[in-house]
Amino acid sequence: MNILPTERRSLIVLFGATGDLATRKLYPAMLKLYEKGNIREHFAVIGTSRHKIDDEKYREIVEKSVAKETSNKKMVSDFASHFYFVTHDVTNVSHYANLKDKSAELDKKYALGGNRVFYISMAPNFFGTVAKNLKTQHLLSENGGFNRLVIEKPFGRDFESAKQLNDELSAAFEENQIFRIDHYLGKEMIQNIEAIRFGNTIFEALWNNRYIDNIQVTLAENLGVEERAGYYDNSGALRDMVQNHIMQIVSLLAMEQPVAFKDTDIRQEKVKALRSLRVYNVAEASTNFVRGQYGGVGNSKEYRQEDGVPKDSNTETFVAGKLLFDNYRWSGTPFYIRTGKKLADKFTRVDVVFKKPLVDIFSFPQSGSTPLNANVLTIFIEPNQGFSLMVNAKNSEQGFHTEPVNLQFLEDSKRTKETPQPYERLIHDVLKGDGTNFASWPEVASAWKFVDQIRRVWDIQQPMFPNYIPGSMGPVSADELLARDHREWVYKLNK
Ligand code: NAD
Repeated sequence: MNILPTERRSLIVLFGATGDLATRKLYPAMLKLYEKGNIREHFAVIGTSRHKIDDEKYREIVEKSVAKETSNKKMVSDFASHFYFVTHDVTNVSHYANLKDKSAELDKKYALGGNRVFYISMAPNFFGTVAKNLKTQHLLSENGGFNRLVIEKPFGRDFESAKQLNDELSAAFEENQIFRIDHYLGKEMIQNIEAIRFGNTIFEALWNNRYIDNIQVTLAENLGVEERAGYYDNSGALRDMVQNHIMQIVSLLAMEQPVAFKDTDIRQEKVKALRSLRVYNVAEASTNFVRGQYGGVGNSKEYRQEDGVPKDSNTETFVAGKLLFDNYRWSGTPFYIRTGKKLADKFTRVDVVFKKPLVDIFSFPQSGSTPLNANVLTIFIEPNQGFSLMVNAKNSEQGFHTEPVNLQFLEDSKRTKETPQPYERLIHDVLKGDGTNFASWPEVASAWKFVDQIRRVWDIQQPMFPNYIPGSMGPVSADELLARDHREWVYKLNK
């Protein structure tokens, strides 16, 4: 069914308009929205940075950054004609007057109804400053339009810094006006977790500790730190991947059914789930989390030899852990998570491992049958999109032997290519005012409180790094973490 797009009216003030994220992701995403008619006549973008460029030069930058998206030159130039540039240092209060005048001018010119999105695509140390100056310098629209603030990651580096940042933002914007980007939440199959769970009796009826043995979440990357060494070495996999993306995925898997499929109800359930996540003490954190750092092999440099990484760095490039929820639904069913760089492949998947049948009537002595396998629901998030369900069935040979059979649905590559990219979805959600796929402050706060405990323990213990080879699935300790519980990772190498 084709649904006609609703045109969203808004001014987008983009801070960091000449940066990497804006040119690589944001302009192409906006072009897609323009192409589909989600933004068309009534939108304008004011790009800002300290660069001294005019509108014409800025439009060239925008056109260049979207060139590979389409061959329709006329559409690209029409699109780019909505972009304006204001040279602006966000730390200089006097510079906001220009921005205010330009906003008022474009609001009138494009009949934007006073709707404003402020998108801060800059280093996080500027988030608070910009939010404060927007408020004190009267950039927020006061004539009935909306004001929304979009901020990039990372949101703090621990609970304390995140809280301080949140206090700064809250002084200028209400929680429902703040959209904290976690681009994983814009991915098709992450959003599909809710459809699979709450749209299917066969799954939701079994979605609890009576029928599920454990859930595994893997976010694997095959590249190393590349050009991000400076940032990454200060952060590490726990802060860079676990606190945000993994905790968000886990909360979608663990939450109760929301009253309705809308942002406030979904957030409420995610927060409730995260609040029942057990925050570990020192002993529990040491036992339930393991870390790794990649070594070198052949031409592949070890992490400590990468440009920009200190030779004695103890930053983890791999994390695996066991999460426990102390609530009625999940008590006794662990969630295992892992993420790392320079692993065997690049993919994200969730494996839901069901309990084996309590009685296996097929495998008795002399039956020749192998014991029944656990049913496994795998949700493929990327690069493939789809899911599979492993069930036991009789094989077609003489006699009676069961074997695992895989029921699989994978989106074809054409559909996968056409699927909106995360930034397209997320910018559209901001324009609609839908906060479903953004992290709320209570979620961020709970995630930091959990992660801080692990970090505290790791900061006082000396790791034995490097401890895994590129192309593997991480250190041996990640396998031992599950082996201790008499389990194993569903996805493993050389099966
Ligand atoms: P970047 O360094 O490429 O761009 C920063 C922009 O800010 C530039 O346009 C620069 O001119 C501008 N700027 C710097 N100081 C300024 C000042 N005082 N006043 C006005 N403008 C100033 O950074 P980026 O890679 O585009 O990242 C932006 C944000 O997005 C960061 O929070 C980052 O963590 C996040 N992010 C980036 C990526 C990515 O792929 N680049 C991915 C995820 C998240």
